[in-house]
Amino acid sequence: MTRVVHKFGGSSLSSASRYQAVAQIILGHCKSGDCVVVSAAGKTTNTLVKLWQSYQQQDQQAFSDVLIQLEKHQSELVDELFSGDVHRALKAQLDAELVAITQLAQQSELQESPLLAHGELWSARLLAHYLNELKVAARSIDARQLFTLHDAQLLHQQNKATCYAQLQDAVVYVVTGFIAQDCDKNTVTLGRNGSDYSATLLASYIDASAVSIWTDTQGVYSTDPRKVSNALKYPKVCRAQANLLARLGNPVLHAKTLSPLKGSNIKLQVRSSYEPEASPTEIVKEGYSKAKRFITTFENLDLVRVENLAKGEVRTLSQLIQHSIHHFIVNGEAYLLLPATFTHIVAQQLAGRINIVESNLQGCALVASSSELSGLKQQAEQLFHDREVVVRFAHQDSDYALFLTDQALDSDLLAVLHDKLINKGREIAVIIAGIGNVGDVFLQQCEQQITRLQSQFDLKVVGLLRSKEMVFSPSGIELSAWQTQWKNEAQSYNSKSLVEHISELDYEHKVVIDITASEAFSLLYPDFVASDCHLISANKYAGTADRGWYQSLREQQRERNLHWRYNTSVGAGLPINFALADLQNSGDVITSIEGVFSGTLSWLCSSFTADQKFSDLVLAAQEMGYTEPDPREDLSGRDMQRKLLILARDLGLELDVDDIALEPLMPVHLAEGSWDDFLAKRDELDTFYAVKYQQADDEGKSLRYTGQLIISDSGTVTAKVGIAFAEAGSAIANLTPGDNIFVIKSVWYEQNPLVIQGPGAGKEVTAAGIHSDLYWLTQQLK
Ligand code: ASP
Ligand code: MG
Repeated sequence: MTRVVHKFGGSSLSSASRYQAVAQIILGHCKSGDCVVVSAAGKTTNTLVKLWQSYQQQDQQAFSDVLIQLEKHQSELVDELFSGDVHRALKAQLDAELVAITQLAQQSELQESPLLAHGELWSARLLAHYLNELKVAARSIDARQLFTLHDAQLLHQQNKATCYAQLQDAVVYVVTGFIAQDCDKNTVTLGRNGSDYSATLLASYIDASAVSIWTDTQGVYSTDPRKVSNALKYPKVCRAQANLLARLGNPVLHAKTLSPLKGSNIKLQVRSSYEPEASPTEIVKEGYSKAKRFITTFENLDLVRVENLAKGEVRTLSQLIQHSIHHFIVNGEAYLLLPATFTHIVAQQLAGRINIVESNLQGCALVASSSELSGLKQQAEQLFHDREVVVRFAHQDSDYALFLTDQALDSDLLAVLHDKLINKGREIAVIIAGIGNVGDVFLQQCEQQITRLQSQFDLKVVGLLRSKEMVFSPSGIELSAWQTQWKNEAQSYNSKSLVEHISELDYEHKVVIDITASEAFSLLYPDFVASDCHLISANKYAGTADRGWYQSLREQQRERNLHWRYNTSVGAGLPINFALADLQNSGDVITSIEGVFSGTLSWLCSSFTADQKFSDLVLAAQEMGYTEPDPREDLSGRDMQRKLLILARDLGLELDVDDIALEPLMPVHLAEGSWDDFLAKRDELDTFYAVKYQQADDEGKSLRYTGQLIISDSGTVTAKVGIAFAEAGSAIANLTPGDNIFVIKSVWYEQNPLVIQGPGAGKEVTAAGIHSDLYWLTQQLK
């Protein structure tokens, strides 16, 4: 059985309605055997700390005031969540506990850790009972029965065995966070905010598959979303960066949380208990996510230098002050960043070995990949300088840079830093394959289009490819002079070197635009996706490749949040894909698509008149460049078969090309042999066509070559490409020679179908359609 550990923090349980919301999440996400780790409700631990302080100061008035405050909060929760016997019992239990606390205080026997433990004990008890009320088999567990420490070290083996033995039943276990016991059964706490750690520890003990930390933010952001409205939520952050952020005091994940996951495959997610449907941030193993950029702010810190800092000493100190301490080494000397309120405690502890370098500092840390850090740091320094913010101390490590300032960084400044340094992620590297023909027009349109997108994105064309040669320039190619650069710099390449170049590109986003008609190039798509490239293709091969290959490409793209557009592979620039997506997204159900998706066949059928030989028309079309070099390629119908497959897959149908019946626009045997062989037998084509034409005419209809996809009410799919007789007066019969047409029927467009018609080929419209895909992509990346 794979189990999941869910953890709910104090803010997720601050009121009765929050308990109810959490219970709903548990109903939706937990199965029996899963564990739910809880912290104390709201600010209960802070209140208990106050209670402890007033006890120590022997301030009886304060003590009883704080106790009343606790009593009030807990009673309210019990009153609002329960009634009847359960309510009475819980109330009595609470009263007894409060009385016991008072008595221990009077007898001077109160102890800090068992006192603080009440917060978690109360929330676990209430939640388990509330789940029972909802008929969920749930049981609260005091984590002191599960986690034992000896000399401040957790006894992992013993704890693992205990957890296995104790958590056997078919119930949801509601486990107290934050607390454990020592070998003498004394209560020990795991440090402030220690419940996340309890959750990951428990997960490692029970070999859980995943831990979800449900909190009050939706995940891990580039910077504090309360201060900077356009802070970015990252879907994935690697463990090393999450760890670094924690060490830098970022509140979303705490320093110790990740340690139990080391070496394991346990997944960790941070998600919002306020918006449970929002996508979470996943903390992934090294190498499963690119380094992201973050700004973490600091307030009221002291910077101290410590002589002879021993290994493990920082950990002991941070345990002592119950707060994470960031430390770093400069020229062999150890520095600590301490919350100013704790400096005196640390100074006492390190008697004589501590020098205060700067006190009462504010500032921030910039976290980024080592390759871009120096550049970002310089930019940050410039911004501080421009805004007259004095940096008293700066430090650059391999993966972060610190700026310690006098002045606190207000939201305005933070927003500017964020825009300039983090949202730099709006850089998109564009690689264009196939620069003759349509590609050439695409490039001509590019300069203007890129300028238009400039305000939102920094698009750089970094690669131009023909089949054997390329120009690759990671810093961007000057589009106005690309031909010259091509003449001077084009180099031969192979697929391996191309993929390598692309994977090394240091851009937030990359897109490969495939304007080739090469099957070999389409086979590189999985490599491009593995290098985190979005894809835009005019090329039809990948979209019509066999289902296994196609689906695994799709799957890979989904996993990596990558997009793939191929608008122009069907109908060139015609917005057929938009229409299909839009109908489906708005809840309509498409029941059929019929049409002519080949400019060549459209031209041939719609231009034909009875006084002509069909083969003459074919030769004329060939002459004008309307056909493939061997027009039988068009007459075979295979191109339309491919396009119909692409449309079918856009409707979510799992078809392969062979699932689409194909009837060529010529006698089958004419496909064999050379072009000259064909010419020798062209009469056969003429007769074939004339007979069909006459049949259609006899019925008062027009001969057309169409594709047709029909989805019956029961879901049966029929798909075919071939000769069709179009009803006189219908859109397909009236088609302008050369145009494409798509006739879409759906539940909403039942009687009068939705018709999209227009030129379905041509350099300009195709290039423009590719720009439309690129524009669409940028909108998704915003
Ligand atoms: N309740 C404890 C605290 O406030 C533990 C936690 O919230 O994780 O520090
Ligand atoms: Mg907490």
